[in-house]
Amino acid sequence: MDAQLADILGSVRVVSLPLATRFRGVDHREAALFEGPEGWAEFSPFLEYGDAEAATWLAAAIDFAWARQPAPVRDAIPVNATLPAVEAERVPDVLARYDGCRTVKVKVAEPGQELGDDVARVRAVRAAIGPEGRIRLDANGGWNVDEAEHAAHALAEFDLEYLEQPCATVDELVELRARLRRWDLPVAADESVRKAQDPVAVARAGAADLLVVKAQPLGGARRALEIVSEAGLPAVVSSALDTSIGLSQGATLAAALPDLPYDCGLGTASLLAADVVAEPLVPRGGAISVGRLVPDGALLDAHAAPPGRRDWWRERIARCHAVLAARA
Ligand SMILES: [Mg+2]
Repeated sequence: MDAQLADILGSVRVVSLPLATRFRGVDHREAALFEGPEGWAEFSPFLEYGDAEAATWLAAAIDFAWARQPAPVRDAIPVNATLPAVEAERVPDVLARYDGCRTVKVKVAEPGQELGDDVARVRAVRAAIGPEGRIRLDANGGWNVDEAEHAAHALAEFDLEYLEQPCATVDELVELRARLRRWDLPVAADESVRKAQDPVAVARAGAADLLVVKAQPLGGARRALEIVSEAGLPAVVSSALDTSIGLSQGATLAAALPDLPYDCGLGTASLLAADVVAEPLVPRGGAISVGRLVPDGALLDAHAAPPGRRDWWRERIARCHAVLAARA
C-alpha cells in the first residue's frame, strides 16, 4: 500500500491533452499518470496549486493505484453535461458532445462576463434541452450574496436544480441559503468542501443542501466516502477536467456511495479533444461505466508533454511525496 517515490517515477507518464473548448482559461490539460499494483491512477492538480494542496491529490492517486477500492453498489453512473462559460450561440455545439445527458451544469459568474451573458447562456440551454431537462449552475464562488440572490431571481424562470458554490465563503453560503429558502433553491458546496481544512465544516454550519465531492482533491474514494457519511448530506461526485483515468476514479467513488440522488459531474471527457485511453469515458446514453482503465501506449506517446513539462511534473510529484511523508 505504501508507494515509494521510485515506484511512482518508474512508471509515470506526463501528457498534455488538447481541449475541445477553452476551459478555466486553458486550452490544454496536463496530467501525470502512473501504475501501481491495483492499476493506473491520475495525478493532475491544476498548475497553480501549491504543494500542500497538490499533495492530497497525490495521496488520492496513490490510493487508487495501490489500494483495494470500495465495493461498487451500481455499475453505471448517470452524468451531467458540463457547459463552460461559452457564448449562447455555441451552446448547441457543446451540448452535442454529450450523448443522452438530461442534466446540464452551466458555468456562470465567469470573470469578465456579466449576468446578461449568464442569462443568455442558460436560456440557450433550456431551449436546447427542453422542459424535462435539468439545469444546475456553478459560479465557482464568483458572486457575493447580493449578486447571487439577484442572479437567482434573474434565472428563476429557467427552473434551476441547484446553485453550486454561488459565493466563496461558508458565511456567505449560510446567508444566501436563508434568503433563498422561500423558494426552495438548493445550494451545493464544492470549493468549500475540497479546499477547506475541514471538509465537513460547511455541512456543520448549515451552509449547503448538498455536497460536491471529488476523489482527487479529497485524497481518494475511501476518504471521500467518510466525508459524505460524516456530513450527512446528499452528494454529487464530480471531476476536475480529468483524463479518463481520473474519471474512472471518480466513477469508483460514485459507484460506492450508498445513495446517488443527482447526476454526477463525470462527463467531462467530452471537453477533451484527445484522451489517454482508446475508448474515452464519455457519456453514452447519459451515463458512464464503472471499472479500471488502462492507457493506450500510442496515445501516451502522441500526447506526451514536452521534456521540460515532464520534468516539472516529476519534480512536483517528488515534492508532494515529501509533503505526504512529513504528514504521516
Ligand atoms: Mg464546481
